[in-house]
Amino acid sequence: MVIIGAGPAGLVLGNLLLRRGVDCVVLERAGRDAVQNRARAGFLAPNTVRILRRHGLDEGLSRRGREHGVCEFRTEDGRFRLDYRRLGTGEPHTVYPQHELVTDLLAHFLGAGGRVRFDTEAVTVSGADGPAPEVAVRDGDGRPGRWRARYVAACDGRHGAGRRSLPPGAVRRHHRDHGVSWLGLLAEAPPSLDAVGYAVHSRGFAGHMARSADITRYYLQCARGTRAGDWSEDRVWDELDLRMRAPAYGPLRRGRIVQRAVVPLVSDVLEPLRHGALFLAGDAAALISPSAAKGANLAVLEAEILAGALADALVHGDPGGLDRYSERCLDHIWRAQEFSHWMIRLLHGTADPSDPPNHPADHRSSEPSDVSDPSDPPGASGFPAAGAEDL
Ligand code: FAD
Repeated sequence: MVIIGAGPAGLVLGNLLLRRGVDCVVLERAGRDAVQNRARAGFLAPNTVRILRRHGLDEGLSRRGREHGVCEFRTEDGRFRLDYRRLGTGEPHTVYPQHELVTDLLAHFLGAGGRVRFDTEAVTVSGADGPAPEVAVRDGDGRPGRWRARYVAACDGRHGAGRRSLPPGAVRRHHRDHGVSWLGLLAEAPPSLDAVGYAVHSRGFAGHMARSADITRYYLQCARGTRAGDWSEDRVWDELDLRMRAPAYGPLRRGRIVQRAVVPLVSDVLEPLRHGALFLAGDAAALISPSAAKGANLAVLEAEILAGALADALVHGDPGGLDRYSERCLDHIWRAQEFSHWMIRLLHGTADPSDPPNHPADHRSSEPSDVSDPSDPPGASGFPAAGAEDL
């Protein structure tokens, strides 16, 4: 079994397969340090924690994760706190930085005898419609190589080799550009609120999300075409103060901005999540905007479903789970997409005037198409742009 990508999806999958006695190797383009230091998500849903706990992968998050259950909305009409832990099922989120989770998963996998080939980039997957698909790779020095396996799991994100290798017509791609971009910032500063902060302001959205005692993620809505370095640190903090209404609700604790990236809010879902012996999981299967904090959670969930199905097929000769994999995951993916879209409309109002996406039954009109370059601008590969006819 070959797994491409050592993110949350690939490493949960690898750990679970290893436990079930399935021989697997993880091919990872980056070096170990880069993998362990890539700060991204931070909010784990209760079900994600349950999955990790069920498989004994929760040691770090149980020790260092912090419970979280309140959102604070700030608008021109005042401040509103939503205690979703008390109002909902009583289950909190766990704040635990994604790179720490990845570090834990990696240590667990290697400790159990798992193999990871760092600095190894998957270039293409071929022969997925036959019994022995092949992954062509090149190492850090550009030397080529090949891995052959019964199955390949592409957990290599939106721009990975898995998506690239899908032949024309193999999958349908639902794509929507929500028309909004966020400047994602990581500040070396303690959180300033005891809640996730969402500020709706005439100058644009601003968000505050704790990551650890010393690190906080902020978001600032920015114009399309903004480059990550365009805003000076002073401008970032002044704008955050303004949009978060710091004079009224308390100052923000400033610190050095240690990471910045422009994140266009897009939804991108493939259907089905399989082509023969090639399976897609995590961001490779579906990309969701960070507005709903669902991406890493979906990645873990899909990895668990895929691991069970692969183990049944490889250990017990029962391929039924693999046949149902796509449908089971898409059910969760579409619900998450609907929630994310609802959040975008809540935070950005009329920024996206099109109708919210509904269940895929409403989107069957989209044509099968190839996935040539997912970074193409919307509409570029014959896909509908930010229209309601597709996602
Ligand atoms: P990734 O984490 O992207 O891992 C893919 C791996 O594959 C990487 O290690 C990469 O190096 C490797 N790779 C890529 N191409 C190749 C190749 N060709 N060959 C070999 N290896 C390859 N989600 C949440 O749930 N909550 C949040 O709060 C949240 N906040 C976010 C904030 C930001 C700024 C961003 C960008 C994302 C956020 N997300 C959040 C989304 C979340 O980070 C992703 O959904 C998650 O990382 C997906 O995991 P993955 O394993 O599918 O992919």
